[in-house]
Amino acid sequence: MTTPIISPVAAPELVDPFGRGIEYLRVSVTDRCDFRCVYCMSEHMSFLPKQDLLTLEELDRLCSAFVRRGVKKLRITGGEPLVRRDIMTLFRSLSRHLDSGALEELTLTTNGSQLQRFARELAECGVKRINVSLDTLDAEKFRAITRWGALDKVLAGIDAAQEAGLAVKINAVALKDFNEDEFLPMIRWAHGRGMDITFIEVMPLGEVDGHRADQYLPLSQMRAGLMDQLTLEESSHRTGGPARYFTAKETGGRIGFITPLTHNFCESCNRVRLTCTGTLFMCLGQEDAADLRKPLRQSESDDALMQAIEAAISRKPKGHDFVIDRKTNIPAVGRHMSMTGG
Ligand code: SAM
Ligand code: SF4
Repeated sequence: MTTPIISPVAAPELVDPFGRGIEYLRVSVTDRCDFRCVYCMSEHMSFLPKQDLLTLEELDRLCSAFVRRGVKKLRITGGEPLVRRDIMTLFRSLSRHLDSGALEELTLTTNGSQLQRFARELAECGVKRINVSLDTLDAEKFRAITRWGALDKVLAGIDAAQEAGLAVKINAVALKDFNEDEFLPMIRWAHGRGMDITFIEVMPLGEVDGHRADQYLPLSQMRAGLMDQLTLEESSHRTGGPARYFTAKETGGRIGFITPLTHNFCESCNRVRLTCTGTLFMCLGQEDAADLRKPLRQSESDDALMQAIEAAISRKPKGHDFVIDRKTNIPAVGRHMSMTGG
C-alpha cells in the first residue's frame, strides 16, 4: 500500500456554504453485513458486486486526501466494517496519520460480532474508542431485531474490546414496543461496565419491511420517562458527533441522545460520508452526492480529486427533512443506512 506521510500543517480546512467546517469523515467500507437489523435492512438485500468496491488502497488514498484538507476524525463504518476482507490493512495504513498528528482520531462503529478477533489489533492501530451497536440485552430479542445475530458473541466482543483498552460506547436505537422496557437496565449495565450509552431515533432511510411509524419512538418522550427514574444533569461532553449528553447522578455515567427527528442538529453538522464505491454524500438525509471514484482513478495526482472534494463541500445542504408519521411511509432517501454508513 502506498503510504504518503501528511504534514500536520494541513491545508485550509473545508468549509461549507453555511460556514460549517468539515472535520469529520465517515467511511462505509462495505455495504455488506453479517446481521440484518430490521430497522436498517430488509430481509432480502441485494449488495454491490465486489468488483464495484474501491480497493483498500483507494480508500486509503481518499481518506488521506481528506486528512490533507483538514479532516481530523475518521470513522470506519459500513455495513459491518469488520467483515470486509483484510480491513486491518486499512486501519494499519491510516494509523500513520495519527502518528504524524494530522489526524486526531481513528475510530469505528461496529455491531461487535467480530470484535473478539480484531479488538487487540484495532488498539495497536491507535484506535482508542469504538461504538458498538446493541439494542437489547435479551438474547431472543437480539436475534429477532438483528435477524441473524448472536448476543453472546457481541458481549464477548465487548469484553475483548475493553480488555484491549478500547473505550466502548454503546449505541442503541430506541424502538417502539421493542426495547422501551430495557432503557433503564441497559443504562445500568453500560454504566456498571464504565461505558457511555447513546440512544438514537430511528430514521426513515431505505425501504424496510413494515411501517417506520411502528418503529419510531421520539426520544423527547423517552427522556421524560427516564427522568422519573434517574436524575439527569446536562453535560458539556461532546465527541464531535450529534449526541447531546446527560450524566445520571445515580450511576455517574453518561447517556447520549441523538435526535434527528425531534431535535434537528444540522446547524452544527461537521461531517460528510463516503461510500465503499467512492460516492460522497454531503448529508445523510439528502440524495445529492459527488462521485470521487472518477477523479481518483483519472490520474495519480490528487489535483482532480481535491477539486471534486471542494466542489462537493460547496454543495453541502443545510440539513435533512426527516418525517415519520402514519401518512408517510416513503423513506427520506432510497438508500439504506448501511450504504451511507452510520
Ligand atoms: N454495522 C455497524 C453497526 O451496526 O454498528 C455499522 C453500520 S450501522 C448502519 C451504524 C449505526 O446505524 C448502528 O448503530 C445502527 O443501529 C444505526 N442505524 C441503522 N439504520 C438506522 C436507521 N434507519 N435509523 C437510525 N439508526 C440506524
Ligand atoms: Fe448490519 Fe449495522 Fe445495519 Fe445492523 S445496523 S444490519 S449490524 S449495518
